[in-house]
Amino acid sequence: MTDITAVSRGSGRNPVAPGAGRTVASAVPRSLVARLARGVNAAAGAETVRTIAPLTGEPLAELPQSTPADVERAYRLARQAQRDWAAQPVRRRAAVLLRFHDLLLRRQDEALDLIQAETGKSRLHAFDEILSVAMAARYYGRRAPGQLRDHRRNGALPVLTHTVEARRPKGVVGQISPWNFPLELSVGDALPAFAAGNAVVNKPDTQTALTALWARELLVEAGLPAELWQVVVGDGPVVGPEVVERADYVSFTGSTRTGREVAQRAAARLVGASLELGGKNAMLVLSDADLDQAAAGAVRACFSSAGQLCVSVERLFVHRSVADAFLARFAERTRAMRLGTGLAYGADMGSLASAGQLEVVTRHVEEAVKAGATVLAGGQARPDVGPFFFEPTILDGVTPEMAVCAEETFGPVVSVYRFDTEEEAVAAANSTPYGLNSSVWTRNTRHGARLAARLRTGTVNINEGYAAAYGSVASPMGGMGDSGLGRRHGTEGILRYTEAQTIATQRIMPIRPAFGLDEQAFAAVLTGGLRALKAMGFK
Ligand code: NAD
Repeated sequence: MTDITAVSRGSGRNPVAPGAGRTVASAVPRSLVARLARGVNAAAGAETVRTIAPLTGEPLAELPQSTPADVERAYRLARQAQRDWAAQPVRRRAAVLLRFHDLLLRRQDEALDLIQAETGKSRLHAFDEILSVAMAARYYGRRAPGQLRDHRRNGALPVLTHTVEARRPKGVVGQISPWNFPLELSVGDALPAFAAGNAVVNKPDTQTALTALWARELLVEAGLPAELWQVVVGDGPVVGPEVVERADYVSFTGSTRTGREVAQRAAARLVGASLELGGKNAMLVLSDADLDQAAAGAVRACFSSAGQLCVSVERLFVHRSVADAFLARFAERTRAMRLGTGLAYGADMGSLASAGQLEVVTRHVEEAVKAGATVLAGGQARPDVGPFFFEPTILDGVTPEMAVCAEETFGPVVSVYRFDTEEEAVAAANSTPYGLNSSVWTRNTRHGARLAARLRTGTVNINEGYAAAYGSVASPMGGMGDSGLGRRHGTEGILRYTEAQTIATQRIMPIRPAFGLDEQAFAAVLTGGLRALKAMGFK
């Protein structure tokens, strides 16, 4: 039997990918930063905040901070623009998304540079965002007219009542986004809101505001009226509540802790909210899994975007009969991952996004090791590569008292657990208040689908970590339990930005005694009518 610990420790630290020759300073010049910063809704002379590029720690941008008065102004402008926009035919609105799709694919390198500069992720992981946003743009660009069209419904009384269900835009959507997927979680989520006839006031995380501002420019180039998408920037606990207080609907993505606060504020105002929150996602490797595929899949599932991905896997359950063979493969692949700072394809993993992220990841790993966990791969920070780099890490022997066991690490750290029966694996996977994503690996995909139905997560991927379900944009994506409320993608992902309106027209006779019937006769006629409708199979 292979000694996993010996194998993984034997060959030392993760290698470093060669540099790409392009620096953050050359890819994101000051002139670009200054132009994008003008898109922030902030008064002249506003206070500014500096951001740094996590890959290298060098200064990146100086961004104006919006005040409550700026947020108020943003809503005023957005509201004015929304009225005309909502009056446009849906097809015309949807056409903007299709033009945006083409522009984004053509100019993807600009976005990839900004995403890498602001988040520190590798280029391939940044490309995940181009993929998901382009897919959403095509999907809603093509489907929105059908999803939003009026539907004829059965009326209260057949023939006599003509009923139509219509969809009206909410108005101005307040959208609050985190830093980890700055393109997808700003423009990606805003596209269906625009298609449905809304305006958006977006508060991106300050660290990644440039990407959102760039996407705004591109969408305006594709034909979106400029005033329709307002961007405000500032400290989350200060500016975030100002956005929620004025919104007709709130679209929030971020941590469960902040999500609860946002939900309370929205509830107090009786406005709806969708909340896309944290996770502690599980991957199950069954006894019949293709172990090479599963090991390669686990690398993607656990370490894409350095684990700073809401749907990323942090708990890996492996059937005991294949655990050693699987872990040998997984550890080997993990140790071979090349870390890199280059603004080009070629590195397998980039940096964490901030000192705060590095602190949490380091704490989770160090605490676990001190309490007896074993490091199968990685386990250490890599300041030699960049200030916030941490190696992709596999932990074995993690026990419930360790923070890494149940808390979201949101970094490149996965804990491995062995199971004997699938009952046990399902119970363990479900033993978390979160319910965002899970992943099942088996050669018997029918069996995998049956197992999937027992997992309490909004998405389940079979023989893939997260991309199959997340990329299926025609189908809803979101969390159960502490992972959120509501769904993005699919029909639900656009209808959340609308109010249903029922328009019923009564014809020939009213729904009350008429044509000389007294009340008792009227009741008798309707009673007979109800029985007949049921007997006829009327729905
Ligand atoms: P966060 O909750 O700290 O911040 C998210 C956003 O909320 C930021 O723009 C922040 O400035 C703002 N904010 C902070 N305090 C606020 C307040 N009191 N009121 C209103 N807004 C406020 O989360 P984060 O650390 O930036 O993001 C990481 C988290 O996001 C992780 O938990 C991750 O799992 C989750 N996430 C979830 C999804 C999903 O689709 N479910 C996607 C990406 C990230």
